[in-house]
Amino acid sequence: MTLDLPLLARGKVREVYDAGDDRLLLVASDRISAYDHVLPTPIPDKGAVLTRLSVWWFEQLAEVLAAHGAQHHLLSADDVPAEVAGRAMLVRRLAMEPVECVARGYLSGSGTVEYRRTGAIVDVELPAGLVEGSRLPQPVFTPSTKAEVGEHDEAISFARTVELVGQERAEQLRELTLALYRRGHEVAQRAGIVLADTKFEFGTDGDVLVLADEVLTPDSSRFWPATTWSPGAVQPSYDKQYVRDWLTTSGWDRQSPPPELPEDVVAATRERYVAAYEALTGSSFA
Ligand code: ATP
Ligand code: MG
Repeated sequence: MTLDLPLLARGKVREVYDAGDDRLLLVASDRISAYDHVLPTPIPDKGAVLTRLSVWWFEQLAEVLAAHGAQHHLLSADDVPAEVAGRAMLVRRLAMEPVECVARGYLSGSGTVEYRRTGAIVDVELPAGLVEGSRLPQPVFTPSTKAEVGEHDEAISFARTVELVGQERAEQLRELTLALYRRGHEVAQRAGIVLADTKFEFGTDGDVLVLADEVLTPDSSRFWPATTWSPGAVQPSYDKQYVRDWLTTSGWDRQSPPPELPEDVVAATRERYVAAYEALTGSSFA
């Protein structure tokens, strides 16, 4: 699908268009990625679910942002081209900060790998005895650089963050990232979902710090069902577990182009995205 707007970037899942007047159109597709590959089979409505969830979160987070003198970048989710209605956001075009602002409240993924090796995540020391899925004594800020296409993001120290954005901005990013995570965790908890970790991106508009990109979606966060949370093993993810389990049993080597997903896996995965949306927002997706 191409809109009659200049395409600025095409990520694994989303497209970014120049909408003129210092605005961008962020379009979420139904593509799904797993193990760093985009799968050949789309998940119907995934782009709409993630966009609507992001829009809902911007509203939920407005108070936390305001308390920190910050804003969000969403201008409208309605005033978008008909072809992408429901899965696009019109946003303010910002000067993006060159760090991905990761908050972790639980040990998981690359955090666990680092912790097992060093007892820390880069320069953030953690107590002994934690396992995959453990809740951390308090949420931590573990920023990373934006990787080039095909590369993995690289976790960086706070000192490196200061080199990249300056002392004052680095402190502001850390404080705001943790405050947004805390609010997100609290809201998700009420819906029976554990927000294990997430990644925010910020930009600036003049002097104002602005929350950008997508926020607190299953693509930028780890969501676990609270009922099955049990530290000591990899937690089933709220949304992609059917896909991952099926890919594992399919015999796919995780190197070659991934196989098409069967219909029941597509349907079950779509259900999970819709269920996450409905649980969090308390409103029906349909
Ligand atoms: P990946 O597929 O690994 O996610 P990606 O991050 O390059 O790759 P997207 O996430 O689809 O792809 O791209 C969104 C891009 O838009 C990111 O580079 C993000 O930093 C940028 N972005 C988001 N919001 C804004 C904004 N308000 N102003 C300017 N750039 C923005
Ligand atoms: Mg991205």
